[in-house]
Amino acid sequence: MPIYEYKCQDCGTDFEEIVSVSAERNPQCPSCHSTKTEKKISIFGSFSGSKGNASSCSSSGFS
Ligand SMILES: [Zn+2]
Repeated sequence: MPIYEYKCQDCGTDFEEIVSVSAERNPQCPSCHSTKTEKKISIFGSFSGSKGNASSCSSSGFS
């Protein structure tokens, strides 16, 4: 699912919104409920740094 970052033009709140493909409308500002929101950038794959967790307890739970 694409996550877009919006900025409210009324109060300046930055927020992220998961937008479906068919949705063309701007979401409401979660702070002041204004619809004067502006799409900033699309965030794709913001989950960086999720490297392989080489935890030492991977083979635990064996009794
Ligand atoms: Zn706002």
